[in-house]
Amino acid sequence: MRRPRLGDIGEFGWIARLLRRTGAAGSRSGILLGLGDDAAVVRLAPPILVTTDVLVEGVHFRRTWGTPRQLGRRAFAVNASDIAAMGGIPAFALVDLRAPASVPVRYLDEVYSGFCRAAARYRTALVGGNTSRSRELSVAVTLLGSAAAGYATRAGCRVGDDLYVTGRLGLARAGLETLYDGKRSGVSVRRFLEPPVRVVLAQALVRTGLLGGMIDISDGCLQDLRHLCAASDVGAIVEAHRVPIAPGYRHAAGEGLRLALHGGEDYELLFSARPTLAHHLPALRRRARCPITRIGRIVAARDGLRVVDQHGQVLPVRHGGHDHFGRRGR
Ligand SMILES: [Mg+2]
Repeated sequence: MRRPRLGDIGEFGWIARLLRRTGAAGSRSGILLGLGDDAAVVRLAPPILVTTDVLVEGVHFRRTWGTPRQLGRRAFAVNASDIAAMGGIPAFALVDLRAPASVPVRYLDEVYSGFCRAAARYRTALVGGNTSRSRELSVAVTLLGSAAAGYATRAGCRVGDDLYVTGRLGLARAGLETLYDGKRSGVSVRRFLEPPVRVVLAQALVRTGLLGGMIDISDGCLQDLRHLCAASDVGAIVEAHRVPIAPGYRHAAGEGLRLALHGGEDYELLFSARPTLAHHLPALRRRARCPITRIGRIVAARDGLRVVDQHGQVLPVRHGGHDHFGRRGR
């Protein structure tokens, strides 16, 4: 027998199926009314963070690149990354899934399964959403998070702050380029398909009281640093030799640095902090189980944004990072 497709069971059939399958996955405190009514009713301590992001087939992913679980997981991770960049805690999620009628129901089950599993790790519950037929497959997520202990913004960088980045940069972009080249396996591909979620570390940073400005790296380290500098009205100096390049690309003459500075898709945190944060780094690294590297410092706006080598020589830097309507859309 042919496997059922979305068109066979229809939208109501799909919603009934989803309720049966995810009813238990959505349990956490604060849900007064979850899936199944016209709207969800939740209780969340203010201030409340709200963010949304969408993955569209043919623009952000291809179905052949990874498993549907990875797609669901990525849909959670890219949104949770924005909540993390504010120093918040994700709590409730809405998923707006659009799919051609020809998509197997099993595929959509797996997308939700990947999403709910990733969300559950951060005690985030799916409380609502929407499903409709569409020409392209897309997964749009709206995430609500709390920032009861305070939140970070892009505008918090101060002259004299140190500039830090989490994790290692460049691998995800290398993975995306590998996928475009038609290969589907390898460490870099997996890193692209499964971005990190730095929620725990971000909260720990906020609690130190030493955090300046913060952003997550989606468009590329330098491009996102430009966003930070513009919002904070400051400049920055990046020391190229300190940039944590993914293993395997460190010796690839310039290629590793290109991927790390311009690549994007890293979903690591880029932030500034008072110099005394250095004292907290060993504990923070242990807590987050990821590298935290000082890559430069914040300077006055008139000094601009510069990348220098270990001798202090200014390196030429091209403008632009990831472009939503550029190369990735091919
Ligand atoms: Mg962001």
